[in-house]
Amino acid sequence: MAKEGLTAFQAVNRYFEEAARLVDLDEAMYSVLTSTYREIAVQIPVRLDDGDLIVVRGYRVQHNGARGPYKGGVRYHPTADLEEVRALASLMTWKTALLGLPFGGAKGGIEVDPTGMSSTELQRMTRRFANGIAHVIGVYRDIPAPDMNTNAQTMAWMMDAYSATHGYSPAIVTGKPLDLGGAPGREAATGRGVVYILEAYAEQHGLDMGGLRIAIQGFGNVGSWVATEAAAQGATVVAVSDVSGGVRRDAGLDVARLVEVARAGGTVGDTEQAGVDRVSNEELLESPCDVLVPAALGEVIHTDNAPEIQARVVVEAANYPVTPGADKILGDRGIPVIPDILANAGGVTGSYFEWTQNIQQFTWKEDQFNEELRDRLRAAYQATASAADEYGCTLRQAAFAIGIKKVAQAARMRGYV
Ligand code: NAD
Repeated sequence: MAKEGLTAFQAVNRYFEEAARLVDLDEAMYSVLTSTYREIAVQIPVRLDDGDLIVVRGYRVQHNGARGPYKGGVRYHPTADLEEVRALASLMTWKTALLGLPFGGAKGGIEVDPTGMSSTELQRMTRRFANGIAHVIGVYRDIPAPDMNTNAQTMAWMMDAYSATHGYSPAIVTGKPLDLGGAPGREAATGRGVVYILEAYAEQHGLDMGGLRIAIQGFGNVGSWVATEAAAQGATVVAVSDVSGGVRRDAGLDVARLVEVARAGGTVGDTEQAGVDRVSNEELLESPCDVLVPAALGEVIHTDNAPEIQARVVVEAANYPVTPGADKILGDRGIPVIPDILANAGGVTGSYFEWTQNIQQFTWKEDQFNEELRDRLRAAYQATASAADEYGCTLRQAAFAIGIKKVAQAARMRGYV
């Protein structure tokens, strides 16, 4: 992907530069933090069920490991090229630092459209990928997790492929099924975390969650849990969408019914509800609401549609959904953006809980998981809001600045730079 003349990695580095001006960074540190530590590209031949063979490309990018083992999801998507994976790995570095988690940043991807692939084809592809990157991952080296078009099943296959040569290693991936060492609460953690952050924002600005109308683009793991948690907190979910389009109802959608349809493999547009209008993904982004939550792809809010956004606040559940040009337009229009590295950090925070539980061979109850998650996210929100006040900058610049300072300090103390 490249919008407005910038690749995704260049755009993330643009955000980095804006924040780096707020903190003291020497040139050497700047060069280290705007490039990646290690990148690996692997060939993945996949035998299809009909006997044909396709060859796809897989990547693992480790951006910075100064603060701990690399951590980041694995995405299956046609746009998941090396440059996109670099961008997402860099975001993980700032996100884990902002949250104070003992991890560095990484990301993985396979450049493939997995829709229509059978479970056996997906399993063969995942095992090949896991074997291809096995020498650069490890329980204390790099721990993958799910992202777009990957899920707990994908993680189970990755864990099994890795464990076949390294012995039983549940902590090698997070986001696993509960029966294989997954943590109760992890599946919902990203979406729930988005709502915990929104709750903290609402409190700071004197807004009542019950009075908020929310529009959500994307109804996969993250989007569906944002909708569920927001509805549980009394907000009105007025619009949701998936890759096939969306639905809107001003009086509020029946979220439980939408989740049921989506979990059964349907699209949100299949849901029969009285008074529901069909909307396109573009219409959803530009439709009236208080809170707009992009929870699907990157770069969906750009210079062409940013002037049309009607929301009072944009909460980035997806990674890099707002381009730098759009970020500026929204800022000038007085529409705050709660950045991805803060808004969706519930995912990696939940992954941290799962990883520590695996290492200790101990499982928390879901209530404890959610309580810890909420506390950590609220603390990160407050630190970001205070830094934004202190520097007189946006929430994104403040969140990056906090992350950059911590990573630079760790790199310096380790003698890396
Ligand atoms: P998912 O695969 O479970 O769901 C993706 C959703 O987006 C689906 O509803 C899909 O139909 C929809 N979608 C796909 N292409 C679309 C398009 N062109 N237009 C509109 N909708 C489209 O993925 P997910 O895990 O929910 O991840 C969503 C976003 O959240 C990604 O940007 C991911 O990087 C980010 N994220 C995920 C996690 C996690 O824990 N899963 C953590 C942090 C951030």
